[in-house]
Amino acid sequence: MIIGLDEALAFAENKNIGLAAINTPFFEGLLATIEATERVGVPVILQFAQVHEPIVSIEDMGPAMVELAKRSEAPFVLHIDHGADIDYIRTGLDIGFNSAMIDGSTHDYDTNVAMTREVVEMATERGIKVEGEIGVMTGNENGDPSQGVADSTLYTDPEVAAEFVRATGVDCLAASFGTVHGVYRQKPELDYALIAELRRATGVPIVMHGGSGLSKQEYHECIRHGVRKINYYTYLAKAAYDAVLPLVDDPGIILFSDLAVAARTGALSNAAEFIETCAAV
Ligand SMILES: [Zn+2]
Repeated sequence: MIIGLDEALAFAENKNIGLAAINTPFFEGLLATIEATERVGVPVILQFAQVHEPIVSIEDMGPAMVELAKRSEAPFVLHIDHGADIDYIRTGLDIGFNSAMIDGSTHDYDTNVAMTREVVEMATERGIKVEGEIGVMTGNENGDPSQGVADSTLYTDPEVAAEFVRATGVDCLAASFGTVHGVYRQKPELDYALIAELRRATGVPIVMHGGSGLSKQEYHECIRHGVRKINYYTYLAKAAYDAVLPLVDDPGIILFSDLAVAARTGALSNAAEFIETCAAV
């Protein structure tokens, strides 16, 4: 079933847990995430990031995500991740997504506010909740391994974040406090006090991007300090890859579909473990 982002966030707030927000730009990952959610029994945010367009388009993958979520008895939010412009977000909402992130964080503050407000206005007309972002996180959702190091001079300033939330009306906020997108090149130094300060100053749930590759303890500390939505992709996709690898040189396997089944199995255990970790704080 499909539920609103507000309902999912309220559930997480009540139980003091985090919501797994999983990007599924490949079908095996989507099937695995649906099944993992049904097993664990908490709401999960299914996401499609604009940066994944080269893998598959939202027009092709989106309807499958919406349909499988509707058909399942488990609760899902359908979220457009890192929308770079309002047209892309409109496309996603027309497909049936019911939650969106507008990422204006690479623009200057005023442009970010203007872009984000425009999306909030459009989304509000449709009863849709919006995530905004302020502060810079390096790397990207393609698991770009070129950087993988957080830069503390780019961490989000709580006062600026509070002003941003007031000016835009976003319902939750992605902020920079030590995580990076993709694969970590060195152990991340998470600033838990900053998370708590951001949560207090903005009054909205904090979203963690670059959620792959942290320890269970680190996830739990982040959740305890105010993170409610944790974006996840790289390690799910890597688990699918790792499951396929031993089969590639097996002369008995000649069909891609056999690799797809292995990928799904690998992704399933990874997704289930991640969802459980977020839900068992
Ligand atoms: Zn992100």
